[in-house]
Amino acid sequence: DHDEAARLIALEVEHGAFNYAPLPVVLERGLGVHVWDVSGRRYLDFLSAYSAVNQGHSHPKILDALQRQAAKLTLTSRAFHNNMLGEYERFVTEYFGYDRVLPMNTGVEGGETALKLARRWGYDVKGIAKDEALVLFCTHNFWGRTISACSSSSDPSCRAGFGPYLPGVPLVPYNDLAALEAAFAQDGARIAGFMLEPIQGEAGVVVPHEGYLRGVRELCTRYNVLMIADEVQTGLCRTGKMLACDYEQVKPDVKPDVLVLGKALSGGVYPVSAVLSSDEVMLTLRPGEHGSTYGGNPLGCAVAMAALEVLREERLAENAALMGERLRAGLAAIGSAAVTTVRGRGLLNAIVIRPEGEKRNAGALCYAHKDAGLLAKPTHEHIIRLAPPLIITAAQIDEAIEIIAKETRRM
Ligand code: PLP
Repeated sequence: DHDEAARLIALEVEHGAFNYAPLPVVLERGLGVHVWDVSGRRYLDFLSAYSAVNQGHSHPKILDALQRQAAKLTLTSRAFHNNMLGEYERFVTEYFGYDRVLPMNTGVEGGETALKLARRWGYDVKGIAKDEALVLFCTHNFWGRTISACSSSSDPSCRAGFGPYLPGVPLVPYNDLAALEAAFAQDGARIAGFMLEPIQGEAGVVVPHEGYLRGVRELCTRYNVLMIADEVQTGLCRTGKMLACDYEQVKPDVKPDVLVLGKALSGGVYPVSAVLSSDEVMLTLRPGEHGSTYGGNPLGCAVAMAALEVLREERLAENAALMGERLRAGLAAIGSAAVTTVRGRGLLNAIVIRPEGEKRNAGALCYAHKDAGLLAKPTHEHIIRLAPPLIITAAQIDEAIEIIAKETRRM
């Protein structure tokens, strides 16, 4: 009930760090596209834990894999082999078409791994002089909260007050091939990698222009720079394709040299991330130079294989594409003065709110949506991301459109 929610929130306020500002809703159960709060109230989940729960909450196949494996063996560390790791490594590399995988746990660890790999490849293969390597990032990128991620961020809330910063991670504007080419032309011999999100998620679902990814691929090839795709949020069917890079996979292939996956790689039940690449890149690392106690543990391997199978078996890319079109068409037809833009691909979408006074802003609208039974979160001041689990049905999309229409018209 209400008192129970207040009590639980008070516990967090009293004992936790204030590094998040959650909506005041306390959830205790999830199934499919729905979550329930401690008073039994049901909500449509339009965040999906920042796109980790693509397969839906408590997916039976993924839970079954988790429970079976948990009863047998959960963690060995990489000091010993375990009977799941090789099976998973073969499965995931065949699934995405890469030579090798390096398993980690969280998305930001995947990014850190990609950054280290690019530097090492830069020295060992490209021949960059000692400690001179650069890895380029995009303005408004988001790849996590470690010091490397802060150092390569243009967002003051990620960066300010956490210096000194990691050197060698300069920024170029996103969605700007001329700027990228200028950077490559100026410093190409020192540039080991260029890491980018094929759609910028946290920046507010920023979709680059048609041809941008293809252009990035061409420039990276021309200047011998590793193209590193951070598909932690966009990958795994979220945008209506298995990978968001697949949107431009018409001649020539937009295949990144290094692919970073996380979040939905476990369907939201367990932290699993992965970095996929070629022999040439991956074999630059030798024993003892990188790793993680939990990375590649048998529980994560079992869960990830089940989560990836679900994406294919349930044709979630197709459903995300169809339901995304339905959602954007429905939102565009709302005709509210409060919504200026509807954008996205598949089920990674955003609406941009035209703010007015104190009352009308993305935060206030998310409160109103919560009270009406739909959970979403603002990203930046005026943007609301709409990203439900990919198993959502047409009727559930229509229900969400109705809630959003009613609340935005009311503002
Ligand atoms: N990369 C992208 C594109 C992300 O959106 C995120 C998280 O939102 C991350 C990396 C970091 O993932 P994690 O929070 O699991 O470290």
